[in-house]
Amino acid sequence: MSASPVWHPFTQHGLGEPIPLVTHAQGAALHTADGRRVIDAISSWWVTTHGHCHPRIMAAIAAQTQKLDQIIYAGWTHEPAETLARGLTAIMPPALTHVFYSDSGSTSVEVALKMALGFWTNRGEVRHRILVMEHSYHGDTIGAMSVGARGVFNQAYAPLLFDVGTIPFPAEGHERATLDALEAACREQPAAFIVEPLILGAGGMLVYPAHILADMRAICARYDVLFIADEVMTAWGRTGTLLACEQADVVPDILCLSKGLTGGAVPLAVTMATQPIFDAHLSDDRSKMFFHSSSYTANPIACAAAVANLEIWRDEPVLERIAELAERQQARLDALTGVTGKRRIGTITAMEVPVGDGGYLAAIGPRLLKHFRERDVLLRPLGNTVYVMPPYCISDEDLDAVYEAIATAF
Ligand code: PLP
Repeated sequence: MSASPVWHPFTQHGLGEPIPLVTHAQGAALHTADGRRVIDAISSWWVTTHGHCHPRIMAAIAAQTQKLDQIIYAGWTHEPAETLARGLTAIMPPALTHVFYSDSGSTSVEVALKMALGFWTNRGEVRHRILVMEHSYHGDTIGAMSVGARGVFNQAYAPLLFDVGTIPFPAEGHERATLDALEAACREQPAAFIVEPLILGAGGMLVYPAHILADMRAICARYDVLFIADEVMTAWGRTGTLLACEQADVVPDILCLSKGLTGGAVPLAVTMATQPIFDAHLSDDRSKMFFHSSSYTANPIACAAAVANLEIWRDEPVLERIAELAERQQARLDALTGVTGKRRIGTITAMEVPVGDGGYLAAIGPRLLKHFRERDVLLRPLGNTVYVMPPYCISDEDLDAVYEAIATAF
């Protein structure tokens, strides 16, 4: 077979690492063309919540393909998008009254940033600075990169990125510095503060307490700075609750959701906003409309999958499953020796392998990947940080195999 023309994301093709061909997946297992069964211990980049090919989501997709594939969404609508929006406004905090569709976590962030700037512009106030948290990750489009941490990921594109105000991460014992920095920055009247609630994902699975999230939200409210919660990774039960914000009793002005929105089956995202943000764009003046779209906005098949996801949340004991998985994860983390920085939030565990340097390009990274690959476990360390974020249906046996692979990794 000739070399594949495919160019993979976040992959250095020059290293010649094997790229397995996956033929089918079920629950927490991926099956490859060469007959291997691989345990998906990272929910295929944090998207798969209930498990691969959940029958209700697959059935909803199949049924929708017989009715309506795709239509323009500017000025037109369809039942799956309407049902989903109503379902989301019913399940999410009541203050989030409006649902704007897009296609990925990154675009949900772009939309959030544009909504924030549109809000201030349409109200006639000059506010465009965005505040961000150190070590954040919000996606790979230009705006999302701009509000994320600068580093090897984006140094080549730095000239395209806009300037932001960065608040230090609230590391244990240094929380006051974060709150003080946020308060000082808020006095300068920025447009918005964007944050990953409770845990920073790609930045290294860095956890901070709920009361700090609550304090940060209160500071933003005090200074009239829009609070954007990027729950692209944390929502849909990953941190133990439907939204991470719930644990801090925080309601954002703007909420970004994607990944588990369709149970992880097909791409879809929403940015939810409060009434004042919608109202700032509501006018008989066409120049004040929200100027954002993409061709596949609110694709009916993706919306049908997300409606099925909401039904699963309504009909099945999802939160109980999550609580059980959290306990099962904790027990295995407790038993693990030889690693540092052990931490867990909800269904996510993380730890550092104490070998060599840290950082995304830590030399240990490719060796760990190879070790896990050889044991048919899909784990993708962030440098020397190993994390486990499985679908909620993972069996005890598979979870044991994942931790066995970690325990023998160094
Ligand atoms: N925001 C957060 C917090 C994320 O973790 C991610 C992806 O991992 C994104 C945004 C970007 O999402 P996507 O990869 O779907 O564009």
